[in-house]
Amino acid sequence: MSERNNIYFYYQKDEDTEKKLEPVFKLANKNGFQVVDDDKEATIIIGVGGDGMFLQAIRETGYRQDAIYAGITPENVSSLYCDFTLENFNELLPAVLHEELEVRRFPVIKAKVNNGNSFYCLNEVTIRSTIVKTIVIDVYIDNQHFETFRGDGMVVATPTGSTAYNKSNNGAVIDPLLPCFQVSEIASMNNNNFRTLGSSFVLSKGRVLTLKEVEDGNDHPIVSFDNEALPIRKINEVEVTMDDIVVKTVKLKNNSYWDRVKRMFL
Ligand code: NAP
Repeated sequence: MSERNNIYFYYQKDEDTEKKLEPVFKLANKNGFQVVDDDKEATIIIGVGGDGMFLQAIRETGYRQDAIYAGITPENVSSLYCDFTLENFNELLPAVLHEELEVRRFPVIKAKVNNGNSFYCLNEVTIRSTIVKTIVIDVYIDNQHFETFRGDGMVVATPTGSTAYNKSNNGAVIDPLLPCFQVSEIASMNNNNFRTLGSSFVLSKGRVLTLKEVEDGNDHPIVSFDNEALPIRKINEVEVTMDDIVVKTVKLKNNSYWDRVKRMFL
């Protein structure tokens, strides 16, 4: 059984990071926490290294619903998911110990591939061409055909993923209090032969989005879940829904989602 004060750190196991983390481990122990080697024994899971490592920490530990996640950046750089740096890490510990912790819950999408395995994503699922040819995708909303896409690919983002790949494709930034997901195009072809909506669109929780690959000479697109590509050669369809599971993270005062967005982009 996991103990309330057990912390697991997920980080790149190199000498430099381990050295930087030594004082953090000491501080945790001094404050009555136990640093554990097995993530299953922990109730607090900390990704060290930035948003990319935070995403990996969640995936590798299996989107634990009975644990709180937090992110640390080793340097003082802005980040969407990481509230802490190695310097201000001490602010996390008393909050957890004295139950003053405010928790924020980030919505997650679920992508079911070829009617088989499902994968959770905190940022986004993408389907993209791996060669110079475009891919063709039939887009269905609640099993009704909506459009046929031809281009480089499509991004389906969660609210917190909206500031990542989605934003690079002119998608809107979405408040994570809204249970919804956003579909954005990557370089769609729009001419008298091919026509798509041409803008991002947002679907509410409860909708089912289905992306069906149309066999048109480029039949091996790649599917990614956050920062992981799926090693499946033939993708026929990806069904995306918003799931009931959430990622619980520590909420610090004066550090709302929009404070972070401002810090990152403005
Ligand atoms: P990466 O390609 O090494 O870095 C992508 C960058 O996106 C990093 O600077 C990362 O921050 C940042 N990032 C990740 N999630 C974010 C979020 N929700 N809001 C704002 N920025 C975010 O890959 P990675 O570090 O493993 O991250 C994977 C993510 O990269 C994917 O989920 C996808 O969203 C994004 N990506 C973006 C593009 C693009 O914009 N053209 C292309 C491919 C992938 P850190 O430096 O703090 O890790």
